[in-house]
Amino acid sequence: MARRFALPRLVVATHNRGKAGEIRTMLSPFGVDIVSAGEFGLPAPEETGKTFEDNATLKALAATRASGLPALADDSGLSVRALGGQPGLYTADWEGPTRDAMVGMRRIQDELAKRGVPDSDAARAATFHCVLALAWPDDHVELVHGTLDGRIVWPPRGSGGHGYDPCFQPVGETRTTAEMSEAEKNAISHRGRAFRLLVEACFK
Ligand code: IMP
Repeated sequence: MARRFALPRLVVATHNRGKAGEIRTMLSPFGVDIVSAGEFGLPAPEETGKTFEDNATLKALAATRASGLPALADDSGLSVRALGGQPGLYTADWEGPTRDAMVGMRRIQDELAKRGVPDSDAARAATFHCVLALAWPDDHVELVHGTLDGRIVWPPRGSGGHGYDPCFQPVGETRTTAEMSEAEKNAISHRGRAFRLLVEACFK
């Protein structure tokens, strides 16, 4: 049985503005006072885990230990089937040292082109993953994992969302996630799904 969250304040332990914005929107109905990692000057811990779960846990624990408040962390990434699941855990690293999503999207496209992957749905299949870790100051952690299946499109399209959204088209959609409103994306996204699982487990 998951632990219920019944505290007034929560640190959102991410330095990624796109993720932080989506998480804030999703938390807004729950009347929790949200503090950002930046407000506490929390450093971004090294992501040394071997799974999204490991990395989300280490980020949430680092934030709760440094702040004394419960902390919600997100570890996410994009796995491309024809690339053996890459970039996966290393999705942020593929954006290069300046964290430029265009660099990461182009690298995926170049890797697909190098392998001669045709422009068909099945061949360009990809999945977004999001693991949310909610950590309490006594080191208790609850984890949830959401996914969104789709395919890599080229050229990138749309100016909404963040990160790799312009090159990702969900299954059954004609638009990329960057061509959707934040509400439309949250309704189907890996992060939205993970968040709904977390709400069921801890906020109801
Ligand atoms: P993390 O901060 O180490 O979890 O890295 C997450 C990576 O996945 C970053 O490169 C993000 O840009 C990318 N990413 C995560 N969620 C999304 C999303 O919803 N849309 C697009 N890119 C995302």
